[in-house]
Amino acid sequence: MIDLRSDTITRPTPEMLEAMTQAEVGDDVFETDPTVNKFQQKMADLFGMEAGLFVPSGTMGNQLSLHLLTKPGDEVIIDETGHVFNYESGAAAHLSSIQLRPLKGDRGKLNRKLIEPAIRPKNDWDPHTRVIAIENTTNKGGGAYYKKNELIEIHKLADEHHLSVHLDGARIWNAMTASGIQPEFFSTIADTISICFSKGLGAPVGSMILSSKDRIKKARRIRKMWGGGMRQIGLLAEAADFAVENHWPLLDDDHKRAKEFSEAISKNPAFKIDLSTVDTNIVLFDVVGETADKAIQKFSDQGIVFVPFGPKTIRATFHFQVDDEDLKKVLKVVEEYS
Ligand SMILES: *Cc1c(COP(=O)(O)O)cnc(C)c1O
Repeated sequence: MIDLRSDTITRPTPEMLEAMTQAEVGDDVFETDPTVNKFQQKMADLFGMEAGLFVPSGTMGNQLSLHLLTKPGDEVIIDETGHVFNYESGAAAHLSSIQLRPLKGDRGKLNRKLIEPAIRPKNDWDPHTRVIAIENTTNKGGGAYYKKNELIEIHKLADEHHLSVHLDGARIWNAMTASGIQPEFFSTIADTISICFSKGLGAPVGSMILSSKDRIKKARRIRKMWGGGMRQIGLLAEAADFAVENHWPLLDDDHKRAKEFSEAISKNPAFKIDLSTVDTNIVLFDVVGETADKAIQKFSDQGIVFVPFGPKTIRATFHFQVDDEDLKKVLKVVEEYS
């Protein structure tokens, strides 16, 4: 089976598992796991932030970040396709008593023109606009990434209005690969960043939030309160470190395969795709004559799996465990599809 449902399905490689067995571990609730301590600082340094905190999921990373940046009743501006808005079980309302203000952006991306009118005036009856939450790359937005000047513009707007910026960087690795932006740049445009090791990088578990020392200290306590205090997680930090070192460089190939795949899709009249929307490892395309579910079933009968992303829309996500050999097979099925 060739699994293009998501880049979260990647499994640990034998080399990664071997690295994990060598990890020196301790109890991280006591802050005595040397491997996780070292890795948190390594990631903080990489992104130009003061400190980092390993968390079990991207959802916890996003929710902890918003919790740190807001007070109950505050409002967070976000694109309507945002992960925080769609895929986190309503956590922002439940855990932080905040509300989200979804805006209709461009493939999941926000800009000054959209955000500025949504910033509330300062009347007693207005919620306090407190945070701009952006996603890079966008997931439901189809893998779009921000250019440097777009991020600078959002940060400038946030500064003018005394707002914080949270960056959901679940796929920041893909964004950096596609845009050429260096990691330390992101600390200049965001107050909190969450990054994931378990998407295209292929670690079995793990995300991290990056911010100031002060915020990360508070985040440790909230993480414990929310049941995310973990013990010998040097094992997981080692896997994540291995993923950053060895799998980050492979993302460019995923992007190339996504391009090749989308070109084949564009040549078959059974499908519709806007090739200019294929930026990274995620491909969204439509089926013309039938439903997405039907088309997915037909592909699945030939050993290729996708996920539906709307009644007529399918998402294909490329990752390093789909190689050129697999791609060849997929291209053949796409060509012969009718
Ligand atoms: C996957 C993802 C997350 C985090 O998901 P978890 O399953 O909680 O690790 C956050 N943001 C985006 C954009 C994602 O794609």
